[in-house]
Amino acid sequence: MSTSVSELQALLAQPKQVFITTHHKPDADALGSSLAWASYLKKKGHSVTVVTPSDYPAFLNWMQGNDEVVVYEPRQNDRQVRDLVNRAELIFCLDFNCLARINELGEYVRQASGTKVLIDHHQRPESFADVSFSNPQAAATAEQVFEIIRDLGDQDLVDQGMGEALYAGIMTDTGSFRHPSTSRNVHLIIAELLNAHIDLASVHRRIYDSHSEIRLRFLGYILKDKLTVKREFNTAYIAVTQQELRDYDSKTGDTEGLVNYALSIEGIVFAAIFIDRGSAVKISFRSVGDFSVSDFSRSHFEGGGHHNASGGVSYQSLDATVERFLGLLPTYQAQLVSTPAVPVAVAPPVA
Ligand code: 5GP
Ligand code: MN
Repeated sequence: MSTSVSELQALLAQPKQVFITTHHKPDADALGSSLAWASYLKKKGHSVTVVTPSDYPAFLNWMQGNDEVVVYEPRQNDRQVRDLVNRAELIFCLDFNCLARINELGEYVRQASGTKVLIDHHQRPESFADVSFSNPQAAATAEQVFEIIRDLGDQDLVDQGMGEALYAGIMTDTGSFRHPSTSRNVHLIIAELLNAHIDLASVHRRIYDSHSEIRLRFLGYILKDKLTVKREFNTAYIAVTQQELRDYDSKTGDTEGLVNYALSIEGIVFAAIFIDRGSAVKISFRSVGDFSVSDFSRSHFEGGGHHNASGGVSYQSLDATVERFLGLLPTYQAQLVSTPAVPVAVAPPVA
């Protein structure tokens, strides 16, 4: 048993007041890992509250435990959330590793006296936690949560609801099992989750095939009119204005995944989407191969994340942000043109 797991085991030896949180605009891994971990801790006799720093897409609201999630709204439930953080004996931070990712909640967590435990797979963790499970090799925080439950000797407590939440996290963070993070271990864990009777087809449908009609038309508009390809940099990007978000009645989650279309063009190794949210321009970066969008985002857009998937922010106008981005590309041209868009296949072992 690793040091962290035995420390965790000691922390969980008596029933505790537990606070679980995850990053701003939670995705399937953020919410799935948090809810599965919450279900597990409840089964072990703890009092658990999951608090998200913002709302999240409706296509995630089927997960077991969703109805009890407290969505932090600074103007509405600040007092309640602050009390929950301050009362907690244990604070779990899942699928993020810097307190800026949980907005105003970050300060409350920083100042809280409860023991802080980080479970996360992003690069370069901040050191705010007392116990840390930080593994950038992990495909998803949901993978880590499964392993921790197993290492604590409680795999038999993983039920269908927990299994489907964990599966959703792993499925989405691996891009449906195609990113290089999709290790043998990942598939072995899915095999274990199948033992808990998870319904793969239904999870997939609820996440990927449950969009509104207008969202699909929004996608059509973006692909037809808003996708820009810069062949000389093997780069493609999309910029979305506030007016376009309004025109298509855009809801939380409706822009998720759009950037992947830019990356799906043959020869493209770097893709970006810039979304004008009014208070700031939110940016997602994706790459294939060696080009690190985590480094790019950290260096230029106050962001971070993973080697091939990262995010950042800009406080300039949408146009100025895109101009700045385009101005940076020549610096990276050599790297961008030398990256093979299709990963070089590993030769099969000689029989
Ligand atoms: P997405 O583009 O899907 O929002 O995020 C891609 C990855 O980058 C996710 O793992 C997410 O947690 C991380 N990420 C997104 N935005 C930010 C950001 O502003 N700062 C940091 N540090 N990470 C981010
Ligand atoms: Mn994740």
